[in-house]
Amino acid sequence: MKTFIRQSVVILSLLISTLTLAAPQLPMKEPMGGEAFGHSVKPIGNGLYVFRWWVYRNIFLITDDGVIVTDPMNPKAAKLLQSEIRKITDKPVKYVVYSHNHHDHISGGDIFKAQGAKFIGHNNLLKELKDHPSPVIPLPDITFSDSYTLKLGGRTLELSYLGPNHGDSLAVMRLPEEKILFVVDIVTPRRVAFRGMPDFWPDEWVRSLKAIEKMDINYVISGHGPETEPAIDPASVVAEQRIYLEDLMTAVKQAMDSGTHSPDALRQQIKLPKYENWRYYQQWLPMNIERIWAYYHMGW
Ligand SMILES: [Zn+2]
Repeated sequence: MKTFIRQSVVILSLLISTLTLAAPQLPMKEPMGGEAFGHSVKPIGNGLYVFRWWVYRNIFLITDDGVIVTDPMNPKAAKLLQSEIRKITDKPVKYVVYSHNHHDHISGGDIFKAQGAKFIGHNNLLKELKDHPSPVIPLPDITFSDSYTLKLGGRTLELSYLGPNHGDSLAVMRLPEEKILFVVDIVTPRRVAFRGMPDFWPDEWVRSLKAIEKMDINYVISGHGPETEPAIDPASVVAEQRIYLEDLMTAVKQAMDSGTHSPDALRQQIKLPKYENWRYYQQWLPMNIERIWAYYHMGW
C-alpha cells in the first residue's frame, strides 16, 4: 500500500510538473484567469454607454441600425457585455472595433463574430495577431492605415492611428458630434503609468498625446479605471498624462546627468510629490523610473 501511495505521488508530481511546463504558452483562452470581477454599465447619453469589467472599460454605441462595440476584453467580460447590451436593445452587434493588439483588451469577440459582426483594427494589429494568434480573438475583417470612419445608423465613429506609442497598432476613437474620445492605455486619468510600462515607447507616447491634445474633443473616456473613478473626464486629462510623463522623464534624465546610473538607486532616489495623490504612486513610480532609465540607457 505504501509503495502504491509513493508511486502515485511520484506520478502525480510528474503530471503537475508537465502541466506547469505546458501552461504559460499562447494562446491563453482566459488571460485574466477564472476570478470573478465586478462589472457595470454607465449610460453617457445618445446611445453611448461605458461598460466596465474590473478596471477595464470599453464603449458601445447603440444606433438605429445596430450596435458598435469596442474592445471585448476577454471571454467572461464579453459574455457579460453581450447580456448587458441585450437588456437595452435587441438590435444586432454589427461591428467590433479593436483599440490595439493586446490580448487583455481584445479577447472574447468570437461570440459577436458568431452573430455576424464585422471586426475592425489597424493594419499592424492584423500582422501582430497573425504572429501571436488566439482562438478567442477573431482577426479584423476591415483594416486601415491612418484613419477610418465608421458610419452606422446615422452615427459616426472616427478611428485614428497616431503612430507607435503603446505597441504599434493603437487607434483612438472619436465621436465627432459629441466631441468624445475613447482612448485605451495611453490616457489613464489620475494614475501613474502602468507598472514597468510594458510595450510603451516613452517619447512616441508623449508625441501621440500632443497629437490628441490638438484634436477637437471636449471629453475623454479611458480604457482603464475602477468603479470609483468617473466614466468620463474632461479632455484636460490628456495634457495631465503628458505632463506626468515629461516630469518623469526629466527627473530620470537629470538624475542620470548628475551621475546616478544605477536603476536601483534611481528607483530609490527619485520622487515626484506633485503626483503622490495619483493612484499607484507608491507601488508603480519606481517601475516607471526603471523603464525611463532603460529608455535613456539603451535608447529603447
Ligand atoms: Zn495595451
